[in-house]
Amino acid sequence: MPVDLQQLVAYTDNLLQAERFADYCPNGLQVQGRSQVERIVSGVTACQPLLDAAAELGADLVLVHHGFFWRGEAQPVVGMKRRRLGRLLLHDISLLAYHLPLDAHPELGNNAQLGELLGILDQQPLDAGNPEGVGCIGSLPAPLPAAALVAQLATLTGRAPLHIGDSAAPVQRIAWCTGAAQSYIGAAVAAGADLFLTGEVSEQTVHIAREEGLQFIAAGHHATERYGVQALGAHLAARFGLEHRFVDIDNPA
Ligand SMILES: [Zn+2]
Repeated sequence: MPVDLQQLVAYTDNLLQAERFADYCPNGLQVQGRSQVERIVSGVTACQPLLDAAAELGADLVLVHHGFFWRGEAQPVVGMKRRRLGRLLLHDISLLAYHLPLDAHPELGNNAQLGELLGILDQQPLDAGNPEGVGCIGSLPAPLPAAALVAQLATLTGRAPLHIGDSAAPVQRIAWCTGAAQSYIGAAVAAGADLFLTGEVSEQTVHIAREEGLQFIAAGHHATERYGVQALGAHLAARFGLEHRFVDIDNPA
């Protein structure tokens, strides 16, 4: 049974508390397509191959973590931007995007889903004083050599993570934040974590990890952010009786 687009958007905005976040992009309905939704295609980023796949699959709506209209980007609808928007408008497909709200949701979010997949217990906010903070901290059931966690991540994500630290040293208290959260490493140090896991790395991240004696893993921005949008798509499909398919467009970053 198709669902009304506005009903689906209102439900999802409310579920993710989208209005709570001051974000770098608009959260919610970014491009309006047909008024009834029966088939959702989800993906990490609203890149051209994802939009082409969605059109091919007859999607009514594309659900993503990285949508359009980022703060500071050039505004004219030309080139790549024109081609992406054109694909959606030509096929009357909506684009529904949630950035920070999808990182932060305590069950369906990127961080909650990744923590769950890694078996991290007692997940708490890394920066409890910041209502928009999206990082988490928690504990493995037992201490594990860092190398074992690296291997687990490699199996999960299908790529080799970057690891800084002693592979044989035990880790138990884990701080993590998916995507490009390498600047949260200071918060992980302050929270007394054994290891900080995120998607990306910067030059100075390596020095901070070494000098603060904190283990660090960069497991990939795309790779660590594949799980929230899948969980949200599955949730919406179950809630409204819709079709949902996640399309993974490979990205080594
Ligand atoms: Zn991201």
